[in-house]
Amino acid sequence: MKIDFHVHTTHSLDATIPVHKLAEKSKSLGITPAITDHYSMSAIPPMEKENTQFIPGEELRVSTHLGYADLIGLFMNEEIEKGTEVNEALDRLKAQGALTYAPHPFDPMRAGLQDEEILKKIQVIEVFNSHCLSRFDEQAEEFAQKENKLRAAGSDAHFLFEFGKTYVELELDELEPTKLLKALKKGRIHGVRSSKIRRIAHRFASKILKPLF
Ligand SMILES: [Zn+2]
Ligand SMILES: [Zn+2]
Repeated sequence: MKIDFHVHTTHSLDATIPVHKLAEKSKSLGITPAITDHYSMSAIPPMEKENTQFIPGEELRVSTHLGYADLIGLFMNEEIEKGTEVNEALDRLKAQGALTYAPHPFDPMRAGLQDEEILKKIQVIEVFNSHCLSRFDEQAEEFAQKENKLRAAGSDAHFLFEFGKTYVELELDELEPTKLLKALKKGRIHGVRSSKIRRIAHRFASKILKPLF
């Protein structure tokens, strides 16, 4: 199974991927998305109607002693509101049977968690994010190796053409949290950095979407 662990839809204010288009592309590429919208799980009910497999998640905005940061929950059933304290968020994710995933953990421009003591409590470390500068991903890779953490990757797609550029290839027959954790030990990461085109597209979209910010 191929999984892109970090994907946004139109249910994130800064992303432009309609749920039905994501479902369509996911089927044609054979890549399963984890839907990780910013502090929202409102894309999950429409995605469930699409008859395609995906991981229901959220990119939470948590508060930490450093300020605020991003944290992803995978296999979630209940949204966790913006501003929840990080340890409380981790407890609540665990209580709902979700997996914890640290997106772009060392990237200060993308609200990475950065604090190693917090990162040690997280199950999966994103060691490749298509939008990160390579040095931040290298730091994440070093940390994951040092702490013997599970590694994964995502495109952090905000535009449809980005989805599936980065994914993890896994020996996995069923989308289930425990099986996924086991399969991640031998996951193969295929990572592609976001191109200039994306940055231009983003600038263009920011202009159109400005009233939303
Ligand atoms: Zn993020
Ligand atoms: Zn994101």
